[in-house]
Order: sequence, then C-alpha cells, then structure tokens
Amino acid sequence: MVVEAKLTEATTRNLGNFSGLDVPDDTLLRACVHCGMCLPSCPTYRLTGQEASSPRGRLWMMRAVADGRLELLDPSFDEQMYQCLNCRACEAVCPSGVHYGPLVEASRAQLEQHRPRPVWQRAARRAGLAWPFADIRRLRTMVNALRLYQRSGLAKVARRLGILQALRLADLEAMLPPISAAPLVAGKERWELRDAEHSAHLFNGCVMSTVFPEVNRATGRVLALNRYAVDVPTGQQCCGALHVHSGMMEEARVLARRNIEAFETTADEPIVVNAAGCGAALKEYDFLLKDDPDYAERARRFTARVRDITELLAAHPLEQPRQPVNRTVTFQEPCHLAHAQRISVQPRSLLGQVEGLRLVEMRESSLCCGSAGIYNVIRRRMADDLGDRKVKHALATGADEIVTANPGCAMQLRTSLRRSGATLPVRHIVEVLDEAYGGLDAHRTLVKEANEKGEQRRSD
Ligand code: SF4
Ligand code: SF4
Repeated sequence: MVVEAKLTEATTRNLGNFSGLDVPDDTLLRACVHCGMCLPSCPTYRLTGQEASSPRGRLWMMRAVADGRLELLDPSFDEQMYQCLNCRACEAVCPSGVHYGPLVEASRAQLEQHRPRPVWQRAARRAGLAWPFADIRRLRTMVNALRLYQRSGLAKVARRLGILQALRLADLEAMLPPISAAPLVAGKERWELRDAEHSAHLFNGCVMSTVFPEVNRATGRVLALNRYAVDVPTGQQCCGALHVHSGMMEEARVLARRNIEAFETTADEPIVVNAAGCGAALKEYDFLLKDDPDYAERARRFTARVRDITELLAAHPLEQPRQPVNRTVTFQEPCHLAHAQRISVQPRSLLGQVEGLRLVEMRESSLCCGSAGIYNVIRRRMADDLGDRKVKHALATGADEIVTANPGCAMQLRTSLRRSGATLPVRHIVEVLDEAYGGLDAHRTLVKEANEKGEQRRSD
C-alpha cells in the first residue's frame, strides 16, 4: 500500500521570501555567529576560495532570503544551494552547533516548490528520481536488466558503436560496478548461527540490495558470527536520501512512512544499515516527519533504533577474525558517516582488529569525494576535481586497497581511479571483515555445524 503524501496547513509557513512547506528553521538559521571556523572544512570553499561558496556565505544567503533581502529565485541563491555537496563537514566543526544539513535541504525544497521548471524537466526528474525509487520492485527490474546487459556482451557492443556517447550515458555507465549477483529480496534471506544472543533487522537499501547485494549478504554473515540473528523485513523501500538531497521532501516522506511501517513489526531491536548515506537519512526521519501527527512519534522510535553496521559491531567485543588479511588499506570516510552520524573511530577500530591488516591514513580522509547523492551526475566538474583529489591522497599512501562504507563513494572512487589509470580495488568495510571470517565458504560450514549440533541436541 502506498501511503499518500500529506499536505496540511500546520506545515506551511511564511518566513520572508520563503513560504509553503519546508521553510528553513529560523532558530537554526540564527545559530550561525559568522565566525568562519567551518570554512577550511568546506570542499567547495577549498576548491573556489570564494566566500559565497562557503557554509558561512550560504547561511548568509539563506538568512537574506528569510529577511526578505534576497529573492528566493535569485540565480546566485539557486547556484549556491546546489553547488553545496550537503556533505555536512561544516556541521561537524561548528562551535555554535549550526545544524546545516536541514537548512540546505529545506532551501532546496523551497526552490523545488517555487522555481518554474519546463514540463520536460519536471517529467525528467519524475522519470529519473521519483518513479524508479517509489517501489523497490521497479528498481530491481531495472538492475536485473542492467546485469543482463553487462553480462550478455551488449555493453561492449554499445560502447564500440558509440551508442552510449550519443545518448550521453557513457559517464553514467562508467560509474557502475560489474553487477555479479542477484538482488537481495527482503524476506527471502536471513542469517543466524546457533549461538545468537541478539537480533538485528537489515535495512536493505535500494542501491545496496540491487547493485551491491553481496555487501548486504556479507553484512548478514558478519553479524551472524557476532551472535546476531539477522533478517530483512519485507515492505521496506529506498530510504529517501536522494529525494531529501534534491528537495523532493514529499516523496521522501512517503518512503519514510513506508519504512517505519515495515520495521514496526520487529519490536525495538536495532535496524542495521551499511550505507552511510541511508543511515544518515534514516536517523533523521524524526525531523522529516516532525509535523506529521500520525508519524512523528513513530518516526522518533524508528530513528532511535537505527545503527550503522560499524556502530553496532563496535558496541560488543568483536568475534576474533579467523584468518589474516595481509594487506595495507586506507580508509575513505563517507561524509554521511563521519560528519552526519559522527562515526569515525568505530570503522578504524574494527579494521585494527583484523590480523595482518595495516591501516594507513590518507590526507583529508573525511573531505567529500564528490559523490554526494547525484552531485557527481549533475555537477561533473567539481565532483571530478574532488574525486581526483581523493584518489591522489589515497595513492600517496601506497595502500593496496581503499576501504569505504557507502555505495556512492565506492562508485565515485572507482570512476576517479579509472580516470587516473590506477587499478586499486575499492571495498566496503564489511567485505574486509567477511574475508577475515573466511567469507561465504566458512559461513556455510558454520551453518552446517550449527544445524548438525541442533539435530544432535534434539535426538539426545
Ligand atoms: S556555520 Fe558555525 S562555524 Fe560556520 S560561520 Fe556559522 S557559526 Fe561559524
Ligand atoms: S555541506 Fe559541505 S559543501 Fe555544503 S557548505 Fe557545508 S561543508 Fe561546504
């Protein structure tokens, strides 16, 4: 059942030249004291050196619209709200606690509501963002077709004939990894060994469950070895992060309500997520639905249960990995893990417990890689600059592999590595842990042993 978007009088407001739904919060706006301490952390300021491209500059503009001194549709406002990566690095260092993310997201929502768009642009946005993500089955069908395209040799033919270039899809296609496994369908798989002491419910994610399903399966195996019984509740959908980033708040709210309903059937146990961008979005459902009388409290309860996989694993002593991983790795911190969720120590601590693994820090490990939702599709030049900068720092460490914790970052890093001519693998942190536990084969053996011991106990 699709929950329809609710538009109520209680959620529409006026604030200077902002009006309607999702008006930026005046109190949050006023928290900025213009100290400038956030400037060195801001990727767009680092690249341009311009005050307007800094958090302080953007907050000044939002304030000017809120005070009626700047038109909402002023092109400079539009440019800066969308040049921002919403990486939230400014938020993490702000001494005044300015909650920047919701402010830029609300500003984009305002632009989406009031900016006149040609019909074709509205249709393209619906086709590209709203339609495929509104129902996970649609995305699964699309990714299955993509997998067939990659495996059948059609991809090579299309590239050779220049079809992708002609359709302007070559860059988009180059970002995609080879999709080798079938999507993970909610309700169809679960992981549990005989000594489970806790339960966790996997947030499947739209991109993770279709493009990177093996990372989700590795997550289940790693958690099972750490005494969790893990299932994938049915009814869950895309988290809505892409919609929030694009100012499509009503679409995001529809998805949030569906996810809340899907996980309400699973008591108060943790909801585990392995994509940093999704985790940050899920942890802010309480803010997204704060004006919805039917869902505000339910969203608060949901949000309190969400844990990143590294956060959940680090909460208990880690089951000793079983085999050494003799490699040097460097960790690329996803912005929505390091800045939005403030999770930075836990991934490093987990990597530090893998025998043989050496972690070397790259410079600017938490500076945005340029992925930022669909930023690397719609703002190629700045995204490429940031991706190249990230890869340069990663290569300078001499690491054999880059480890990260977000699908968007993994795709962006692979694209930037390809451009640089380097062939470094990029892997999710869970894949490294899974390898240290022996991967799928070791897990199958453990499941068999667990089943045999269960049989034995029953016959005794
Ligand atoms: S956002 Fe925070 S750090 Fe940046 S200028 Fe405002 S108060 Fe200072
Ligand atoms: S969210 Fe990132 S890009 Fe945007 S102003 Fe803050 S630091 Fe700069």
